Amino acid sequence: MSKLLFVNACIRDESRTKLLADAVVKKWNGEVEEVDLTSGNIKPLDKETLKVRIAKQDAKDFSDPVFDLAKQFKEAEAVVIAAPFWDYSFPAVLKAYIENVCVHDLTFEYNEKGDCKSLSKVKKVVYVTTVGGDKQELVYGIDYIKTVFREFFGVKKTFAFKAEGLDTVENAGREQEILDETLKRIDNFSFEDKIMADDNRPDVIRTENLTKMYGNYAANNNVSCHVKEGSIYGLIGRNGAGKSTLMRLILGMSPVDQGTMEVFGAKNEDVAKVRKDIGFIIENPTFYEYMSAYQNLKYRAELIGLENPDAAIKEAMEKVGMTDRMNSKVKGFSLGQRQLLGIANAILGNPKLLILDEPTNGLDPIKIVEIRKMLLDMNANGTTIMISSHILGEMDKLCSCYGFILDGKLIREVTEAEMQAEAIDVEEFFVDMAKGGQNE
Ligand code: ADP
Repeated sequence: MSKLLFVNACIRDESRTKLLADAVVKKWNGEVEEVDLTSGNIKPLDKETLKVRIAKQDAKDFSDPVFDLAKQFKEAEAVVIAAPFWDYSFPAVLKAYIENVCVHDLTFEYNEKGDCKSLSKVKKVVYVTTVGGDKQELVYGIDYIKTVFREFFGVKKTFAFKAEGLDTVENAGREQEILDETLKRIDNFSFEDKIMADDNRPDVIRTENLTKMYGNYAANNNVSCHVKEGSIYGLIGRNGAGKSTLMRLILGMSPVDQGTMEVFGAKNEDVAKVRKDIGFIIENPTFYEYMSAYQNLKYRAELIGLENPDAAIKEAMEKVGMTDRMNSKVKGFSLGQRQLLGIANAILGNPKLLILDEPTNGLDPIKIVEIRKMLLDMNANGTTIMISSHILGEMDKLCSCYGFILDGKLIREVTEAEMQAEAIDVEEFFVDMAKGGQNE
């Protein structure tokens, strides 16, 4: 039976955050295991103290609440964490532990067995909190916590419930109202929709023995791929393997020679009709060089019939961090700026499906992280994503399933859960596969 781990870390502000978290936990259809951290038994240890503690005990029997928790994390399908916002304790304390144990030179059996790392196997976390303070603090705080989960524990789906503005001067007397509003939102929440997604979802993209010939060469050779609603599907293959070709076929940009496909229910050549519902970048994005970023995006906004193009353009440019270049001509853009504009163009109007062919090409490391966060956020809000990239570490942090493509053939489709069960590592799998092929 599916298990939810409920971590109660409401050390002080117990009643209100716990009340909200209980409402979230009630939404789970399955077993619930509660871990009580209210006694504050998890505290960051400095390196020296930890060393002493480890030295004192036989590593095998080393018992520690963090590692016990790590094991429970591993066994759970999803985790609900209840912690008042002002208290960063939960993620911050765990982060400190992991840093102490993993990053420093402390090695002991727990580490080698990977139990500690097993925290990173938790992919689904609902974070429940109550917050006061000003807006800036709120945005920063929630983002901080999501970042810790993502960057440190590899959590791909984080959903945060927050009762905002409690205990602030301007909201004096509105406390109950704020809690009621939050409870109403929790009432509309479903683990299946927001957190679990994937497994039982219909395919948004399905191809059956799709073949594309260039002369005598099959750039796609009997490709049957399945992209589930709510998933992030990573297409992995060497240069020339056929990734862009497959994406073009799916977008109806290039005629199919053999086989069938379905995208949002539209079949074969009809897929071109649903293209306006899909945001995409295929190979290097191209723009009207003498037009501004705004004008280029406006062109697409009109093409896809967005109701409020200016708001959509502003939102997309904000998401990629390019508002300052809104009115600059594309002609003067660097490679990275063009790529960011390409991403803004793809996400314009929050499409239900994104098809992104190497979207992080030419981006600096900071931007790569920002774009990853943005894609994970969009995915948490329902956008399905098909993406290709040669940066396998990035793919590992993003994707919930993978399609490995070699010499035009889709060699294997695999979900993350299957990879974990079979202990497949994306890089190892890819390198082994590539040894047998000829792409270059
Ligand atoms: P990938 O995106 O995986 O790098 P592509 O899908 O771009 O690979 O290309 C797959 C193969 O098809 C390559 O051998 C490429 O040279 C060939 N190809 C792609 N587009 C064309 C085209 N328009 N005409 C001829 N050959 C093409």
